[in-house]
Amino acid sequence: MSYDVTLTAAQAFDRYEEIRPRLPVADFPAAPRRCAGLLDVAEHVDAFILDSFGVLNVGDHPVPGAIARIAELRALGKRLIVLTNAASNPHADAMKKYHRLGFDFSTEEVVSSRDVCAARLADLAPGARWGAIAAAEDGFSDMDADVRHWRGDEDGAVDGFLLLSSADLHADRFARLEAALKRRPRPLVVANPDLVAPRETGLTKEPGAYAHELADRLGVTPVFFGKPYHAAFDDALERLDGVSADRIAMVGDTLHTDILGGRAAGLKTVLMLDHGLFAGLSAESFMARSGVIADFVTPSI
Ligand SMILES: [Mg+2]
Repeated sequence: MSYDVTLTAAQAFDRYEEIRPRLPVADFPAAPRRCAGLLDVAEHVDAFILDSFGVLNVGDHPVPGAIARIAELRALGKRLIVLTNAASNPHADAMKKYHRLGFDFSTEEVVSSRDVCAARLADLAPGARWGAIAAAEDGFSDMDADVRHWRGDEDGAVDGFLLLSSADLHADRFARLEAALKRRPRPLVVANPDLVAPRETGLTKEPGAYAHELADRLGVTPVFFGKPYHAAFDDALERLDGVSADRIAMVGDTLHTDILGGRAAGLKTVLMLDHGLFAGLSAESFMARSGVIADFVTPSI
């Protein structure tokens, strides 16, 4: 597994603003409230929906203090859901990763954008054969549809494309995907709308970034599953049945996915700075420029 492209946070932010017309619309508070961590937010809500990358973990390492904070929030009786734009691994493998990192989340507490996609793929195009750009070891066992690996050499065999992972989506393969869509337009389903993800090596270019390039150049309309789009929030809120939206906080590190999507879903929002997209940068200037303003801003969890 390797990623060809990394971006800076400023590049990612500028690109999010460029594709803003393709994102949901929401309204925002005039200014955020500064706080020290999620314990300061806890009195305002009964449940937290937590982003993963940049909040709970950076790549394959837990954010310092995250495991203890989760335990403290549980002790306060807060309900917790992880809502992550991640599509490389089936649910069972994602659970193994959280447990390996030291988190105690139950399988019902974790919703990935892949799960959101898997639940809807069959209805999107009944009977379709999907060509997936996915991690090499992916067996698609969680997909209730005909999904096979597409490596760029079997163009006629698939009715649509499913973008699950940008690991190993190198320039040559991406060019083949663009050519295939140009030759014969077909649905393009993207199970991770993120443009970038914070990993140990920097911000890697993620499936959403590739899909928006195809949208720009070919005029295709990708079907996105994951934050900030509503289906992801629908699935998370279903797990929090009985908690009203204004008593739930969406916690994330990215304005255009976590905060924008959380506000569009009617939730309170918390922007986390130190381990995510805006690490080491002035989040104020990004919030001012985009108008995407969180209810609370905190350095870490
Ligand atoms: Mg994140």
